[in-house]
Amino acid sequence: MSALLSVSEAKQKLLLIFKPLDSETVPISRAVGRVLSKPIQALFDIPPFDNSSMDGFAVRSTDVSAADPDREVGLVVVGDIPAGQTSRVTVDAGQTARIMTGAVLPPGADAVVPVEETDFNARAPGIAAPKKVRISRSVKLGENVRPKGQDVRAGETVMQAGNRLRPQDIGFLAMLGMAQVPVHWLPKVAIFATGDELIPVGSDLGPGKIYDSNTYTLISQIEKYGAHAVNLGIVVDNIDAVRACLDRAKSQNVDLIVSSAGVSVGAFDFVRHVVEQGGRLDFWRVNMRPGKPLAFGEYKGIPFIGLPGNPVSAFVGFEVFVRPAILKMSGVVGVERPLQKVKLLDEIESDGRESYLRAVVTRQDGLWAARLTGHQGSGNLRSLVQANALLLVPSGVKSLPIGAEVDAWMIDDY
Ligand code: AMP
Ligand code: MG
Repeated sequence: MSALLSVSEAKQKLLLIFKPLDSETVPISRAVGRVLSKPIQALFDIPPFDNSSMDGFAVRSTDVSAADPDREVGLVVVGDIPAGQTSRVTVDAGQTARIMTGAVLPPGADAVVPVEETDFNARAPGIAAPKKVRISRSVKLGENVRPKGQDVRAGETVMQAGNRLRPQDIGFLAMLGMAQVPVHWLPKVAIFATGDELIPVGSDLGPGKIYDSNTYTLISQIEKYGAHAVNLGIVVDNIDAVRACLDRAKSQNVDLIVSSAGVSVGAFDFVRHVVEQGGRLDFWRVNMRPGKPLAFGEYKGIPFIGLPGNPVSAFVGFEVFVRPAILKMSGVVGVERPLQKVKLLDEIESDGRESYLRAVVTRQDGLWAARLTGHQGSGNLRSLVQANALLLVPSGVKSLPIGAEVDAWMIDDY
């Protein structure tokens, strides 16, 4: 058995071997959730041309500088500019052109008077522009005009590599005219469960048996963080079965193998033996609760992480170690989960290990407040189901009073 590692030491050691995966190009319609592998530069200005932000009349602002409801200014309408067309008119002194939202501002004009500020309020589709219009409000130079390049200048870097693409990012890429986008490969993560007591869902439970739940939790976590899961199933304690399972992971070219259970002393002997034949396997004791034992190594060049078997320990171990590994392989910059400061509504007892406690965090009197959810045993999955946060109690802390402030991970977010 190795020395006791702090969570941050263990994480640092483990993350060293993970690198961002290669890059590929995908259509933007398939890119949400993927991670940019190259920075994005704008090839043209956004907006690409001066355009109106209102339905109204394009004017020379000096023409209407004296307009008010008691002193309307009459202008001659020389054009009608719908969105999507370039104007053939120039607006000279005393003239105006009807203009729609998003339409190109005609030469000569420098502002737009909204249709509500005129005597022409026929706005139904298909109604022709009037010959003349009376303006009842002044506008400043540039008012209701979105100037070319206001948002983005050609050549500007508008997105950095390492960003996970969100819906608004995808729309922005489209606005920039990009049909394809360079992203990192999705990590492929294989998962298997060990334990003679485990039965797959869909089969009958015999005496002394339980359903394998970790496989499903862990597959869901893998997918939540944007990786592909390869389910290797339940592996029985038998050298050939273990080797066949690991070789299946190898032949599927996965980037990481994760197992649950059997990482405590004595157990896991078959897995250990087979992994060591194909690489190496270390057993770590990490100063955390839940989830102290952790196996870490590599099989035929593929990183291997062995999580504990208790359902909450497996979940927490994944959040602490596997999530950042997946994010790092995905190319994400900044893999640490954001911390939320919360106030305790319950007293906390700890054993001095870095603890991850299940809690429900709600907004109360303008603050985020945390209440523990039920039984905190590492096998009690129900209290994790009731939780929306893990409270991070630092190592060395034995107790915290009601009202104390702690950091929390909001586990329903990324
Ligand atoms: P172990 O790590 O093998 O000592 O297992 C610790 C606890 O986790 C035992 O109560 C196991 O029955 C339970 N356990 C192990 N694997 C799973 C699994 N895949 N699904 C649900 N519980 C499990
Ligand atoms: Mg076991």
